Amino acid sequence: MSSGLEHADRDLAAELESPAAGQVGIPVDAICTGCGQIRVKRATLKTVRESSTTTDPTELEVPDLTSFKHVCHRCQTATWWNPVAVLSGLLEREGGE
Ligand SMILES: [Zn+2]
Repeated sequence: MSSGLEHADRDLAAELESPAAGQVGIPVDAICTGCGQIRVKRATLKTVRESSTTTDPTELEVPDLTSFKHVCHRCQTATWWNPVAVLSGLLEREGGE
């Protein structure tokens, strides 16, 4: 049985392109506080801490981000997600300036 820890064979770019990831924001790997699954989500700039020394998305790191609310399809409701990684590689792939 799957434990929900699906690190292998993940296609992060495909997850980001999924509507479930959201429309705008910084690509992050985040963990759902409800069910514990990790998915790619877009975190808006609202999730950047005021204490952060940068607002450049390519320079952001996990400590710069707060938890954010996002729909979890497994929980079937909006839940809190904790960022676990900033996917700056995907960000650069999109050609953000
Ligand atoms: Zn969930």
